[in-house]
Amino acid sequence: MLRVLKGNILFAPAFGSLEVIDHGCIVLQDGKITGLFKELPERFQSAESDDFGDALIVPSFCDMHLHAPQYPMLGMGMDLPLLDWLNTYTFKTESRFADPEYARKIYHEFVQKLIDGGTTRVCMFSSLHTDATGILMEELEQAGLCGYVGKVSMDRNSPDYYSETTEESKRETLRWLKESERFQNIRPILTPRFTPSCSDDLMAWLGDLAKERNLPVQSHLSENRGEIAWVKELHPDCERYWETYHKYGLWKNGTLMAHCVYSDETERKAMRDYGVTAVHCADSNINIASGLAPVRQMLSEGVPVVLGSDIAGGAQLNMLDVIQMTIRMSKIKRIESGWTTDFLTVAEAFYLGTSAGAEYFGDRPGFVPGQSLHAVVLDDSAFTETKNLTLKERFERAVYLCKPQQIKAVYGNGKRIK
Ligand SMILES: [Zn+2]
Repeated sequence: MLRVLKGNILFAPAFGSLEVIDHGCIVLQDGKITGLFKELPERFQSAESDDFGDALIVPSFCDMHLHAPQYPMLGMGMDLPLLDWLNTYTFKTESRFADPEYARKIYHEFVQKLIDGGTTRVCMFSSLHTDATGILMEELEQAGLCGYVGKVSMDRNSPDYYSETTEESKRETLRWLKESERFQNIRPILTPRFTPSCSDDLMAWLGDLAKERNLPVQSHLSENRGEIAWVKELHPDCERYWETYHKYGLWKNGTLMAHCVYSDETERKAMRDYGVTAVHCADSNINIASGLAPVRQMLSEGVPVVLGSDIAGGAQLNMLDVIQMTIRMSKIKRIESGWTTDFLTVAEAFYLGTSAGAEYFGDRPGFVPGQSLHAVVLDDSAFTETKNLTLKERFERAVYLCKPQQIKAVYGNGKRIK
């Protein structure tokens, strides 16, 4: 079926650039983009249309690192450093997802909040529970989102009430993969929580499984100094944190590593050489006072970088807030470097929060013919002074000011989901 979206169209076709079509049209055929037009061609005139008038149509967001079972503790425990925060709040909150009824209720609400904020593609951690992970995947898929979900693997250095034996972990992972076969757009991703949480035996088994079944991998890397020292203690043979994943075949093309705050030149080079993507989580890194990730440096060295809300280390689920925080953190990094490092511009950070994630999923950046539509409609009419601003100015202001109530429509994988 043909459908036409009308409005002001803006997107980032490349890092740092912004393309603008003043009162343009996006034509869809069965949810896939047929073309972008300034004037609607005659042959599409009879198509049904969603006319958004003077609103802004931009790509929807990709949240590439977040912990779904931490949604109930959003905004809590922010005075604690990483390892204390995990033990005081996080493991307790995640352990509640042993109850499928609780999981259903929370995940249903959580998925709605993702859509309200304009997120349509995700890479997320679930808890270690197979059934709750299935419920999360089902809620995401039914709501029209796309991406990866991982049942967390953790068989050591975890509290008794929230841990698996190595055998349990392997068995449950296989059961989860089997049950995930029923999903189309939400696919499994292997998820060793982080090196301290997984025995060598489990890491090696996960690495073999990743290879055997060609599964992607996500985890955490070099987030915090205490964590790095602990990893070094556990793996004295590894010079750097990344080697603890590489050793077991988990460091490969498409692997997502959250944070990379303290990844030095050698670790960054290993990311680039192997095609490992860094997920920058600015809000979380500031909340837990982990540090300032060298984002500009990673980008200039050719390391792929995407953004994550990392709730609940991050306290913002809305990716527009995450994009703002990414810009602010890059400015703190600039100040800290004696004004020698460039900050990220609005267009650059927007690219990281939309196009860079889309590229991870195999799409080309922006609204490209042949691709399924992932878009949000931002209505900035409630803000003062709209008439005298250029579309680029309105876009920049929208990134800073728009909240879910200004997101009037969301399209995920070609379908309108809000
Ligand atoms: Zn995380």
